[in-house]
Amino acid sequence: RIGDRCIGGDYPIAIQSMCNTKTEDVKATVAQILALEAAGCEIIRVAVPTMEAAEAITEIKKQIHIPLVADIHFDYRLAIAAIEHGVDKIRINPGNIGSVDRVKAVVDKAKAYHVPIRVGVNSGSLEKDLIAKYGGHVTAEGIVESALDKVHLIEDLGYDQMVISIKSSDVMMCVKAHELIAAKTDYPLHVGITESGTLISGNIKSAVGLGIMLNEGVGHTIRVSLTGDPLEEIKSAKLILKTLGLRKGGIEVVSCPTCGRTRIDLIGLANKVENLVQNYDLDIKVAVMGCVVNGPGEAREADIGVAGGIGEGLLIKKGEIVKKVPEDQLLAVLKDELDHWNK
Ligand code: SF4
Repeated sequence: RIGDRCIGGDYPIAIQSMCNTKTEDVKATVAQILALEAAGCEIIRVAVPTMEAAEAITEIKKQIHIPLVADIHFDYRLAIAAIEHGVDKIRINPGNIGSVDRVKAVVDKAKAYHVPIRVGVNSGSLEKDLIAKYGGHVTAEGIVESALDKVHLIEDLGYDQMVISIKSSDVMMCVKAHELIAAKTDYPLHVGITESGTLISGNIKSAVGLGIMLNEGVGHTIRVSLTGDPLEEIKSAKLILKTLGLRKGGIEVVSCPTCGRTRIDLIGLANKVENLVQNYDLDIKVAVMGCVVNGPGEAREADIGVAGGIGEGLLIKKGEIVKKVPEDQLLAVLKDELDHWNK
């Protein structure tokens, strides 16, 4: 349980992101979290690099509605302070917290406040002995052993409210590591591809990596890491889950790739439609097709769609042509239809 949300077992896969504001700046951080909540973010993490950031958690918590996770590196006192200031989960790598006594101090505090611990292990910080043990380089086996060592350490300290995350920017190594660890433990897994890159490469790597894992039933909460606006991470995460059939709801847009028959600005229209549908909570499919030759047929599977003509388009519902609309009014007509869909 992370705040008022449960993960693991049969609970829905939760979508996470991480703020890129300074946590000490409560106003900016809250504004970003509220925007992410509205976009569909279900758990949010903030960096806690200073005591001021740990103290800011109290005020941030008052103004947001989703569980808050504190990301701690190195300083165990920040983990303790974050818990005391009401955070719902902490993310640590026990390997960089220091001595067992320091890890114990964090675990004791987490236990007292019923705050779960995400044990995070990154391929970039894999211990030298585990690199040596598995052939002198970073391997999925080494990452898994490192993560389980940390988990066992916390278990030995008498706590089991844990989520495990193992990260590698090598997509297939990351997939293999998750498959291995899922076979060895029942703890919920936070899955994602780390340092995956900017919008295009990050989305592709995340979709491939998460697609394989989630399709195998591996993973209980996801983060799509992108070098960009966290809002994009939420859009991508939702789309990945929807594509895999793990999430229902929201409008799905299908659009044709355009070809020599296209006579309207279909690329512009499709992008505008993508943006438009973000604002609707309707479980329908919208088709944006380039021509009247194949458009109506290809749009038949959709609940509503448009097919371009010369300077105009056809409005189509369930494969039936409803009316002709001038090109510059297509978006407005579609919006009007969506506004009144439930009537
Ligand atoms: Fe080309 Fe028409 Fe197919 Fe779009 S729907 S790709 S314009 S044939």
